[in-house]
Amino acid sequence: MSERFFVDAPISAARIELSGPEAQHLTKVLRAKCGDEVTLFDGSGAEFRAVVADVGRQRVALEVRERREIDRELARNVTLAVALPKGDRQQWLVEKATELGVRRIVPLITHRGVAQPVAAALARMQRWVIEASKQCGRNRLLEIAAPAAWSPFASQTTAGTRWFAHLGDGAPIERTTLDSVVTIAIGPEGGWTEEEVAVARMHGWTQVSLGARILRVETAAVALTAWVAVAADKK
Ligand code: SAM
Repeated sequence: MSERFFVDAPISAARIELSGPEAQHLTKVLRAKCGDEVTLFDGSGAEFRAVVADVGRQRVALEVRERREIDRELARNVTLAVALPKGDRQQWLVEKATELGVRRIVPLITHRGVAQPVAAALARMQRWVIEASKQCGRNRLLEIAAPAAWSPFASQTTAGTRWFAHLGDGAPIERTTLDSVVTIAIGPEGGWTEEEVAVARMHGWTQVSLGARILRVETAAVALTAWVAVAADKK
């Protein structure tokens, strides 16, 4: 796989221009020159073989030579609904979820949540999705959905396998059936409140446990997602 670059608009023309951070990466980091071959993707599912045609100070022109339909998505549609951790741990979570093939992250608003999913935070998350997609070869972008409060989210999510991660007694994940649609809910650093646990139970979510140790939000999220990804990546 050659170096990959994200184009923030559908690629339909035979010649396109990269600008902003993607052009900077190509010129300043990789010191691209005319004739170098790269791979472009626009999030639509395809990737494109392209050749550098002109290198400017702020922009790089590329000739698009070939469109390839290459599907590196998981066979299952996985949503990670998570009360976000702070700072670097948030970035780690988004990167790993992207690599593992999560289709959608829903930032959960919970009673004990520590990181507020404000617009700037969501924009940063979107950028991390792009960086991780460049690295791991995904041609569709993980969606950062609008933040949702736990109670309405829990009641409105009715389809497929719904895992509610909580310490204590839970169904062994190897014995739960995995549907084609999977939603995994992870609580905040301070844990779910009793009311939030009651909401999950009332709406029929399957409580799952990862053992007796207390995992960080991002560890629990990645452990459960990895389980689904390994089980689901069999097409
Ligand atoms: N003191 C908190 C509590 O008692 O819930 C710890 C919260 S933990 C740091 C953050 C979230 O990760 C939890 O709400 C849960 O969703 C998930 N989690 C952490 N460890 C887990 C485990 N062993 N089994 C299931 N879920 C876990």
